[in-house]
Amino acid sequence: MATQAPVIMGPGLFIVPHADGTVAVGSTAERVWDDPTATDGQLDAVLERARALVPALSGLPVVERWAGVRPRSATRRPLLGPHPTRPGVFLANGGFKIGVALAPLAGVLLADLILEGRDRIPPEFRPETRA
Ligand SMILES: Cc1cc2nc3c(=O)[nH]c(=O)nc-3n(C[C@H](O)[C@H](O)[C@H](O)COP(=O)(O)OP(=O)(O)OC[C@H]3O[C@@H](n4cnc5c(N)ncnc54)[C@H](O)[C@@H]3O)c2cc1C
Repeated sequence: MATQAPVIMGPGLFIVPHADGTVAVGSTAERVWDDPTATDGQLDAVLERARALVPALSGLPVVERWAGVRPRSATRRPLLGPHPTRPGVFLANGGFKIGVALAPLAGVLLADLILEGRDRIPPEFRPETRA
């Protein structure tokens, strides 16, 4: 079995080896953002830090630059559970920087609630307490 190289983290920097041989390097974060190329200068600085930390990355081509949205609630806590005013509508949002890691647990908690009527959603995540 192939061993997966570890994630390397530094100040304002992470380096994540992927199974296909590519390496993800990131990242920047902006409060206001409307142009996917606006952070290219900051990304160049991120790449410089990555190459300084892992010289083996020097000379490798950048195959893709990627930008996305980190959905964030006003409190930074995720929103999970029944919509406060629309019966039958459920929310799973506000994952911010950990939305992918959170998704399996959010899915289980919502499925338990919707399919089994078992409510284990933490009070601080519930939309109706956050208005
Ligand atoms: C650079 C970066 C790095 C990240 N790293 C991590 C990480 O390491 N670990 C982690 O856990 N999380 C990470 N995140 C955060 C994570 O990506 C988000 O928290 C997560 O994707 C949120 O999931 P979501 O389903 O709420 O929203 P999204 O993933 O944004 O999905 C929303 C979907 O709805 C679609 N949509 C929007 N409007 C409409 C419409 N009107 N009609 C139909 N469809 C629509 C969009 O196209 C999209 O597909 C990162 C985010 C970024 C930007």
